[in-house]
Amino acid sequence: MSLFEVEGLRKNFGALRATDDVSLSVDAGQIHALIGPNGAGKSTLVNLISGLIAPDAGRVRLDGVDLTPLPMHARVRAGLSRCFQITSIFRQSTVMENLLLAAQAHAGSSLRFLGERNREAALRATADELAARVGLSQALDRIAGTLPHGAQRQLDVALALAARPKLLLLDEPMAGMGPEDSQQMTALIHELKRDMAILLIEHDMKAVFELADRISVLVYGRVLVAGSVEEIRGNPQVQAVYLGT
Ligand code: ADP
Ligand code: MG
Repeated sequence: MSLFEVEGLRKNFGALRATDDVSLSVDAGQIHALIGPNGAGKSTLVNLISGLIAPDAGRVRLDGVDLTPLPMHARVRAGLSRCFQITSIFRQSTVMENLLLAAQAHAGSSLRFLGERNREAALRATADELAARVGLSQALDRIAGTLPHGAQRQLDVALALAARPKLLLLDEPMAGMGPEDSQQMTALIHELKRDMAILLIEHDMKAVFELADRISVLVYGRVLVAGSVEEIRGNPQVQAVYLGT
């Protein structure tokens, strides 16, 4: 059994089948990339998985737990965390303040028996660790909204990591990035793989081919093909539909 499994997920918007019987799985320690043209249903799938919207059919399972009936926050507690494309950042606050809030939100009961001083120190240590993880240790006092785009993305990843996920959902983490920022984000994602499974939705094919252990191609809400990087690269159907060659 895989760590994470999506089984027969379906979502209709009126007459439109945005997600049509989608099944995929992510093994522990692996990166599964989801690609597909605009409007293929990638974001809808992410929203179904994270619990932002409810499916018309199908199940989502993580580490043996059926997440399907659970609200978003309970899914996060069960080990599923997603990046929100910067929208989860408090733009007027510093990087440190953002990280402290995230650390506190996910500290749970572990700090309950500490005094105030020790509690603060523990949160600060977690915030420092998260900053180091994504390469923002030198930017702790910066106002988040004034950071360059790439650094805001890194902060968004750090906020998702505060939940200590078993599975991290990344919806187009390289969107709007130049080659240098993309390369840095690629290195970060590669590094994160040591500690968690990742479902990566991304348009940047260079990054996808570099990072993915497995790729699913979504077209009109359905999985057209799934396979290794080599299989997807060489698949004439994929080249015709998606790569446009
Ligand atoms: P992708 O992320 O692959 O570009 P989306 O999941 O955003 O695709 O969209 C898939 C299809 O579902 C599109 O045709 C889109 O217009 C439609 N869609 C997405 N969200 C909604 C919604 N809330 N209401 C109606 N239609 C939607
Ligand atoms: Mg999308």
